Amino acid sequence: MKRLSVKLKIAGWLTLLTAVMSILLLVFMLSISSSIASQTAMSQLSQTVQLNVSNVEMKDNKLQMGEGFTFYHNGVSTLIYNQNKALLAGQLPVSFKVDEPFENGLTRSVMSGDQEYLIMDLWLPMGWNDGLWVRGLMEVEQQQGLTRNLIYVAMIALPIFILLAALGSYYIVKRAFKPLESITATAKDINEAKDLTGRIALPPGRDEFSQLATTFDKMFERLEQSFNAEKQFTADASHELRTPLSVIRGACEYADKYNETMDEWQETSAMIYRQALSMSELISQLLSMTRLDQGTEMLHQETLELGALVNTTCQEQGYNMENIFVEFEEDVAVWGDSALISRLIINLIDNAIKYGRTNGRVWVSVKMEGNESLLSVRDDGIGIDAEQQEKVWQRFYQIDPSRGEECGAGLGLSMVNQIARAHGGYMTLESAINVGSCFTLHLPIKKIN
Ligand code: ADP
Repeated sequence: MKRLSVKLKIAGWLTLLTAVMSILLLVFMLSISSSIASQTAMSQLSQTVQLNVSNVEMKDNKLQMGEGFTFYHNGVSTLIYNQNKALLAGQLPVSFKVDEPFENGLTRSVMSGDQEYLIMDLWLPMGWNDGLWVRGLMEVEQQQGLTRNLIYVAMIALPIFILLAALGSYYIVKRAFKPLESITATAKDINEAKDLTGRIALPPGRDEFSQLATTFDKMFERLEQSFNAEKQFTADASHELRTPLSVIRGACEYADKYNETMDEWQETSAMIYRQALSMSELISQLLSMTRLDQGTEMLHQETLELGALVNTTCQEQGYNMENIFVEFEEDVAVWGDSALISRLIINLIDNAIKYGRTNGRVWVSVKMEGNESLLSVRDDGIGIDAEQQEKVWQRFYQIDPSRGEECGAGLGLSMVNQIARAHGGYMTLESAINVGSCFTLHLPIKKIN
């Protein structure tokens, strides 16, 4: 059996609920209307009988009826009997075939065949031991017209009402589910076209669908980021590893053909070792950058005092501190990952040394400015011209690639920039050719309690 869509199911349940509620309401109304109808009938019967009683009298042993007397009024037939229960005036309804005993003042219901009657008797005393019975008779069905009409109307109106409820429910559910259709369509597009740039982009709202759409959009963004990072890694790695690998291959081929002495073999092996080192450094840099790109590099954040971190990093790296001048304000703290920030410091100091002049100097400073903690690495080296200053942050960008192995792969500053952004900060660069460069990390301040 074909499974019903959720929309149809909800619309179906809503319709069923509406139908059940309407029927219950109808039954309730019918019971009220029938109770009102029977009360009205009883009061009509009693009023008519009483009115007629007040218009009956015996004069000279003769029955006399006043002007207000009616034998048939408002569905009530009035009959007058003597005290021996012989009918003196009035006509019994043809269908009334019951010999009902008289009971003074009591209104009751009596069945004659299928027909229900309301009966009321009143004893009208005349002198010492004579009197008259006045009996009112009313066909109950006549008074139940309202109820019957209601049932007729309901029989016609209810199906129309239920049909309208079904159409209305379906329309409302369809409208409510529209955002879900757009979520499904986007997910399908992304899947089929393998295009991760698609977004649901529902107008902002606080309902469940808007929240779902926002969550999906965030998920698509993460997927896209992660996919791009992976693509970038594969492209970067295969591109950058090609050079050292071909150097190693070339060296092996050359050594195989021409190496004769132990010294020559040692030279080849040292070169292969250097290439292997630079390859593993490249791979680990690329992996960290990919993880940062993907957002999967877990930041182990803690309160870091920048000055202390600079000192420890310099010590651990074994820099020659004769030419590196560190000055810092006390208690400049940030919320960060010590391993990453320390990698950033190493990258900047290494560059300052690499691109500095011989016996050049490097200044590392830490200070607070406004709401920011600033960490600057300044050198008096070759400098970077204004045109290149934007580009040095790009992956693999090198101003002068011919400088060879010592200069790395052009990934350092790109990683520095990524680390800054992962910490909610940013980098700035001031530089002038042959004067020197100053790279500054700006991070939000973290108060030390
Ligand atoms: P690399 O591995 O080449 O050092 P980086 O991303 O660290 O890659 O730097 C990119 C380029 O920016 C370098 O090739 C270099 O030309 C330039 N550069 C970086 N730091 C400095 C500096 N302190 N002084 C002058 N030039 C620099």
